[in-house]
Amino acid sequence: MSDSLIDTTFTTQTLQKLVQINSVNPGLDPDGPGEEEMASFICETLCDLEIPFEKDTLAQGRVNVTARIKGSGGGKSLMLNAHTDTVGVEGMEKPFSGLIEDNRLYGRGAYDMKGSIAAILGAAKALKESGIVLKGDLILSFVADEEHESIGAQALVKHMTADAAIVTEPTDLNLCLAHRGFGIFKIRTEGKTAHGGRHKHGIDANMHMGLVLAELHKLSQRLPEENTHPLCGQASLHVPLISGGRSLFVYSNSCTIHAERRTIPGETLEDVKSELQSVIDQLAGQNPQFRATLETDIWRSPYEVDSSSAIVSVTKRAASDSLGKTPEIIGHTWWEDSAIFGEAGIETVILGPAGGGIHEDVEWVELDSVHLLGEILYRTALDFCGVNG
Ligand SMILES: [Zn+2]
Repeated sequence: MSDSLIDTTFTTQTLQKLVQINSVNPGLDPDGPGEEEMASFICETLCDLEIPFEKDTLAQGRVNVTARIKGSGGGKSLMLNAHTDTVGVEGMEKPFSGLIEDNRLYGRGAYDMKGSIAAILGAAKALKESGIVLKGDLILSFVADEEHESIGAQALVKHMTADAAIVTEPTDLNLCLAHRGFGIFKIRTEGKTAHGGRHKHGIDANMHMGLVLAELHKLSQRLPEENTHPLCGQASLHVPLISGGRSLFVYSNSCTIHAERRTIPGETLEDVKSELQSVIDQLAGQNPQFRATLETDIWRSPYEVDSSSAIVSVTKRAASDSLGKTPEIIGHTWWEDSAIFGEAGIETVILGPAGGGIHEDVEWVELDSVHLLGEILYRTALDFCGVNG
């Protein structure tokens, strides 16, 4: 037996079973089954732990599970959150092995983020078995579709709230207080079709897009210098997709790009749209034949928690007690569901296990970090929700 505050054997075995269940997001890979089987396994585990839960089917095979350990009243509520879907498994040799070697457990989702689900269940089990009654509610939420469109988190905040949340995405046991957002913008230049030999009649939409790209290139050089954040690093811009023209010997009537803008906390949709619109307006001012439109395709806000909020200090204290040192304060460069919870008024921090190979061919989580995460979540719940007696 270890001297951990949580049942490490239960937590490891639970993690292994979770990794052995395929929960690839069908939005990313049409063969992915979604979260249904994961959700059922989590519900069975909650049932064994005598924790009441609700299963919420959002679409076929797409399921949220929310559980609540009711407090006695007079305390603050805390939500522990993880997503149940994973990215695809192409290129992986044994994606669902759950193989354990030394301190590592291998498989798709081990690190992102089934280790975290196991840690949450480990913390909940410890609380149930301790006989401790919290003042505030402890909510456990396991959401669908974080890796694609976040239908799970968006559905959850429509009917559930909490005073604070911990999103247990991987952080290597550092405390993440901010992350970047992103926007996908569609820019389309309009030309005029004409025979390639009739240059006085045609307007070349592809050439006009070239002018846009030249300006966006300048912007992409400038942005990382000008827009920086102490935890999240730099803002950035690139153009992942381009398509234009119909055929050889025909002036192109339209050209479309998708521009991907990564934002830092403080940047708004209005800011970014006006930055791109001003590129279009400037070019239109210089060239009477230039026509272009701008559309927002996807917008995910950047996120930053107020560093003076209670959840920050309580989580930091709990992590320091478990780790024997103050956790490092970090930011993430990628987007997470925390922004959705933050926008819903739930103060959210991000803290998760250590591992490697996120979205890569060999993925693993470090088992001792999963156990430590379980301990930290348990301590945080006691401290944040308050204990009776
Ligand atoms: Zn994740």
